[in-house]
This record gives sequence, structure tokens and C-alpha cells, in this order.
Amino acid sequence: MAKLLEAGPIVEDLKKSLIEERKSIKNLGIASLCVGSNSGRDAYIISQKRWAELLDVNYHLIEFKRSISLHRFVRTIEEINRDKKINGIIIHRPLPREWNELAIVKSISREKDIEGITPENLGEIFYRENYFLPPTVLSVMELIKRTKVNIYGKDVLIVGFSPIVGKPLSILLADKLATVTIAQIGTFKENRLPFYVKEADILISAVGKPCLIKGEWIKNGAIVIDVGISIKDNKLQGDVEFKEAFKRASFITPTPGGVGPLTVFFLFYNLIKAAKLQ
Ligand code: NAD
Repeated sequence: MAKLLEAGPIVEDLKKSLIEERKSIKNLGIASLCVGSNSGRDAYIISQKRWAELLDVNYHLIEFKRSISLHRFVRTIEEINRDKKINGIIIHRPLPREWNELAIVKSISREKDIEGITPENLGEIFYRENYFLPPTVLSVMELIKRTKVNIYGKDVLIVGFSPIVGKPLSILLADKLATVTIAQIGTFKENRLPFYVKEADILISAVGKPCLIKGEWIKNGAIVIDVGISIKDNKLQGDVEFKEAFKRASFITPTPGGVGPLTVFFLFYNLIKAAKLQ
């Protein structure tokens, strides 16, 4: 049976020093931008606001109608870049499908990029520089660290290859000399997911499809980190079939209560770092 890798105790542990660090900075501000409405996003915004309150951060939620143009959105980001009262920028997903996401991430000042999504901040990962890493990536790395398992030479499978989760994690873990395999939609369509999951000492899944990974595929003693979030039967679900996976894994994150709360913590960790650098 697995040990639960829960965010709660880890956040409690890390929170103290963040609160202490916060005291050395005067005013702190976040601009949080979203387009249109999305029910999944609301929960995320609520937990960000809770952290903002705890750390005395001015949280500016800027909501745009779905009809806003990309040009106007980018101009707003550029204004925020110049605003001395704002230390960090959050861009909520989903964004209109037809928008060029690169135009958005390129417009964010790297000093305020607390989500670690600008080409500069992501690109530096290739050179082992850690200016700002995406909070989800920091969470996964912290969770692996907490298992105290040495990842050198381990078989790591990352399911999902997005710029904010799978791509940066694959580089970071390969840099730590793990053997990294990436699975994505093509792997699934070719029915190759079970094969790769069965080989994985460490499985990280970031897709957003409930029960995509069957518990019976999990290797005995594997570490399972489930980043995926979706709503099924009115409940938050991860990508991994938890009950069965729990019996086989050595460590496993629950959903909710695993990666998610730690990610919000690391967003504010990045904010304090940003304010100190500015
Ligand atoms: P994304 O849509 O950008 O990327 C999804 C990836 O999954 C793609 O690489 C795609 O090829 C792959 N994929 C899609 N269907 C697949 C399938 N059937 N089998 C294998 N691979 C498949 O998503 P994202 O922004 O990286 O987010 C992924 C999930 O992680 C979402 O559920 C999101 O809500 C969640 N998420 C959670 C946190 C957290 O803090 N817990 C943070 C970020 C994202």
C-alpha cells in the first residue's frame, strides 16, 4: 500500500519561511487576467485570493469579455509590465482558441513572470538556470524530493507534454540523470500507454482525463504523481485510477489535495522571489 503524498503538511512546512520573507517587502501586487467565464477556474482564483490575503498581497482580478481582441489583451499586459504596484502576472486558461499564445507569453515581462511561461524563463531551463520555474513544475519536483527516493537512473514516465508541465519537467528530470519517457496523445492512440506505465518507477500524469491510467498498470513500488484535474460525477478527479493504483504504488498523490494546493503555494513563492528581484 502506498504512502499518501499530500500537499497539506508540505505547504504548512514551507509556508513559515515564505511568511517570514514577505515581511521584508513593502507592498505586493498581482494582476490576474482572465477571458470569459470558466467554472473550473473559479476554484483556482478563490485559493489564490486566500493566499493573497494571508500574505497581504493586492490581488487585482481583471476579467475580460470573450469578445476582447488579442491586441487589446496584449496591450493590457504591456501596461501591467510598467505598473510598479504589480509584481506578478497570472494569465488564466482557457484563452480563446484562435489566439496565438506565443504573442501573449512573449509580451509578459520576465521579471513579473511568476507562472514561468515566458520563452526566456522556459528557455533557460536548458541551461539549468532557475529564474522562474512554472509552479506546477516546482510542485512535482518538491513532491518527488519528499519521497527521498534518488531519481538517478530511474525510469520516469511523463504523460502530457505541455509547455507548463510535461516539457519543462522532462528536461529537469533528465538533467538529474533519470531516464525520461514522454507519452502523449499519440501514445494513447497507438495503445502504448499501458506498456510505458508498467515500466515506470516514477509516473507523472498531466492530461486531464479521469481514469486514463488504470491502476493495474502501475508498477509495484512506483511513485505516482497525478497532476491532471477534471470533474467527473461532480467530483475532482485525477488522471490515475486512484484506488487500484494506491495498492501498488509506494507513494501517490491524492486528488484533490495533492499537486493543486502546492502549485498555488509556489505561485506565491515565485511572487516573493519576483518582488525581491525587481
Ligand atoms: P494541455 O491540454 O496543454 O496538455 C495536455 C497534454 O496531454 C498534451 O500533451 C496531450 O498530447 C496529452 N494528452 C491528451 N489526451 C491524451 C491521452 N488520451 N493520453 C495521453 N496523453 C494525452 O494541458 P495542461 O495545461 O498541461 O494541463 C494538463 C492537466 O493538468 C489538466 O487537467 C490541468 O487542469 C492540470 N493541471 C493541474 C495543475 C495542478 O496544479 N494540479 C496545474 C496545471 C495543470
